Amino acid sequence: MEKYCFGVDVGGTTIKIGFFTGDGDLLNKWEIPTRKEDNGKNIIPDIAKSIKFKITERGLTEEDIAGIGIGTPGPVEKNGVVHKAVNLGWGEFNLEEKLTAQTGIRSKAGNDATVAALGEAWKGGAKGYTDIVLVTLGTGVGGGIIIGGKILYGSKGAGGEIGHIHLYNDEEEECGCGNKGCFEQYGSATGLVRLAHKVIARTEEDSILRGGKISSRVIFNAAKQEDKVACEIIDEYGRYLAHGFAVISAVIDPQVFVIGGGVSNAGQILLDNIEKYYKGYAFHANRDVEFRLAKLGNDAGIYGAVKLILDEG
Ligand SMILES: [Zn+2]
Repeated sequence: MEKYCFGVDVGGTTIKIGFFTGDGDLLNKWEIPTRKEDNGKNIIPDIAKSIKFKITERGLTEEDIAGIGIGTPGPVEKNGVVHKAVNLGWGEFNLEEKLTAQTGIRSKAGNDATVAALGEAWKGGAKGYTDIVLVTLGTGVGGGIIIGGKILYGSKGAGGEIGHIHLYNDEEEECGCGNKGCFEQYGSATGLVRLAHKVIARTEEDSILRGGKISSRVIFNAAKQEDKVACEIIDEYGRYLAHGFAVISAVIDPQVFVIGGGVSNAGQILLDNIEKYYKGYAFHANRDVEFRLAKLGNDAGIYGAVKLILDEG
């Protein structure tokens, strides 16, 4: 009899859950709110409840489910232990054991960006590649690294935390991690908006960005209309990203960088501005790396979570 799988992607505001066939075909997906109050103690029970409801609704039992894969923010060790997912309020515990105890189903956990990278490598923008770095440009900068087709967990589950690569010494503001000068402070959507305000303040040039609400989407749209100030902003932003990617390349030597997250909705213009500077910063052996846009969007996490289960056999 055919088995099914669940893929779960825990985000700061919603939890996405996908119900898949054992071959990895998505049958349906839904979302539940992430209840972060009381140190996030309702999050796992909410997921378990939603999964059990789906099993009953389909007329199935736990026996019909091959496993639950789950991606979550913060470091996740290979054995399923999560360390301080700060924005969920979690401390340190074994996520796989807890989810299995509450559902009666085998579970496998990974960091959200890393799991999304696995999804993109399996069915998305990096399909067919074995050595990939997924970079998500959103509120922060997330990273997931796949080497030889396998997730890089690292010794503390923090492999691929590329947002906190130290890039600049002259930074005065603090990063969310407490350090100053992290890649995330320049490469995130938040960093892009911060850069935009700086560029607008230092130039007299007229711009459609002046006076309005600024977001990464607004900036890129203005640049596509050839607004000079917006073009200057995304040019400088591309230079920051290229710097970070060149550092990562020297360590990982990937075949491809897959760019996801909200900022990647800008499309080719984003890749063009990265490629403009990347070769100038990269070690010669790493200069021919490819840059691609993520394809699975918000579904990368649930696909990658299911791949975690299928890879375990
Ligand atoms: Zn940081």
